[in-house]
Amino acid sequence: MSLQHEVENLLNTLGVTAHGAEPVHSPVDGSQVATYAQATPAEVEMAVAQSCTAFKTWRMVPAPRRGELVRLFGNALRDHKDNLARLVTIDCGKPLSEGLGEVQEMIDICDFAVGLSRQLHGLTIASERPGHRMMEQWHPLGPTLVISAFNFPVAVWAWNAALALVCGNSIIWKPSEKTPLTAIAVQAIFEQAVRDFGDAPDHLSQVVQGGRDVGATLVADPRIALISATGSTAMGRNVGQVAAGRFARTILELGGNNAAIISDKADVALALHGVLFSAFGTTGQRCTSLRRLFVHDSLYDSFVPALKAAASSMPIGDPLDSAHLAGPLIDEAAFAAMQAALEEAKALGGILSGGERVTGNGVYVRPAIVEMTEQSGPVLRETFAPILYVMRYNDLDQAIARQNAVGAGLSSSIFSTDVRECERFLSASGSDCGIANVNIGTSGAEIGGAFGGEKETGGGRESGSDAWKAYMRRATNTINYSNELPLAQGVTFDL
Ligand code: NAD
Repeated sequence: MSLQHEVENLLNTLGVTAHGAEPVHSPVDGSQVATYAQATPAEVEMAVAQSCTAFKTWRMVPAPRRGELVRLFGNALRDHKDNLARLVTIDCGKPLSEGLGEVQEMIDICDFAVGLSRQLHGLTIASERPGHRMMEQWHPLGPTLVISAFNFPVAVWAWNAALALVCGNSIIWKPSEKTPLTAIAVQAIFEQAVRDFGDAPDHLSQVVQGGRDVGATLVADPRIALISATGSTAMGRNVGQVAAGRFARTILELGGNNAAIISDKADVALALHGVLFSAFGTTGQRCTSLRRLFVHDSLYDSFVPALKAAASSMPIGDPLDSAHLAGPLIDEAAFAAMQAALEEAKALGGILSGGERVTGNGVYVRPAIVEMTEQSGPVLRETFAPILYVMRYNDLDQAIARQNAVGAGLSSSIFSTDVRECERFLSASGSDCGIANVNIGTSGAEIGGAFGGEKETGGGRESGSDAWKAYMRRATNTINYSNELPLAQGVTFDL
């Protein structure tokens, strides 16, 4: 069956179709698999107005009842897991096991959010005044815009949506223009949950398709209370500035330039496995993909050849075939950016192995390993492709300093069995990233922790822990149950 027919069938099982003026090409083989429609300015305007109306109803629904909708949505995702995962693979090109993992992540965050819907607690605070009580309440914030990137076409939306929904917000989703099909499918699954729920307001969560311009229109709209934007640092710089101009709240989840340190006290086999998955899994197209590796001098001459051998024999090809560990790059532009970075690295003295195109339809490449003597040029920035820059180190403090000496601050890891080294790496003077791991790679986070990074990664946190607070507004309430009016700090104002 052609991919086009498969897409039609997968969407049919959800009772939807995709059609419009814009072609959709699958990175799996480059073929056109569907068409879709971008939202017109009038449709964007209508979506925001509808989201405001939905919010006014939804915010008054008790939070545990809001959790019930998310529970039903999680169950609907369970029912459609296999089909949605296949569509994820066709839309963005990641291996089917990772497509399944992405849908599992959606289910997991739904479960997390259902529990959270009974735990949106504020504090009760001791007042300094007699006969007074202080407390804080968390209230729904408002219409929430989710802008997502192509490489996690459904999970990132779900991280935001599950939390936003239990927190009482309405949602507008502007998916990546490179992966419009999965958004159509997820919306159909969500609407099934809405039907089962019974009395959710219309337009509680909407999809608005389009590119940068549609996203920018939504970001500038003063009715949008929260913007959760996932994508490149260039996108976030733009979105962040526009949002700051109108004091909108943002969660910015931007690019990474993630590093790992392989200590001389590492479990070498485990380190090799961890490096291979995080550098070359998902064809290097994760925000948390490993891009820089610092290998202890005493291990370098054995570890790096082993790494090159394993990378060169990695099975690359059709991501729907479970024999392949990595699929294609998203498009030709990604391949051009990869080649440009490799040329620049070579001109700086880098020794390259791999990186060449694998023949066939779709943009398939061999993982690239570049041995560098220092961090300069492309090593200092994110190239969204399977390139790993490898460097030697002698001194852990120096390796940590070099790890931190880039603009991004998303993910990092150390491979070591020495507790002092590991704790040093995790300490306040260690990794400066939002994610710091020990004996696992930089990618593959679980939903239970808050996800995000510092510096040019944007500073936002989403998913687990207390990330829900970004989706709500905090009100501090002081209640006087006495007959007096004592003022705080002993101030007098006697009439
Ligand atoms: P991208 O920045 O090209 O696009 C991301 C989204 O932003 C798309 O939906 C796009 O239409 C929209 N957009 C672009 N410019 C905009 C603007 N000015 N205003 C409003 N919307 C705009 O990113 P991409 O190529 O789809 O994804 C890859 C990038 O995303 C990488 O840099 C990767 O590290 C990053 N990423 C980060 C995370 C994270 O959680 N930190 C997760 C996934 C991907």
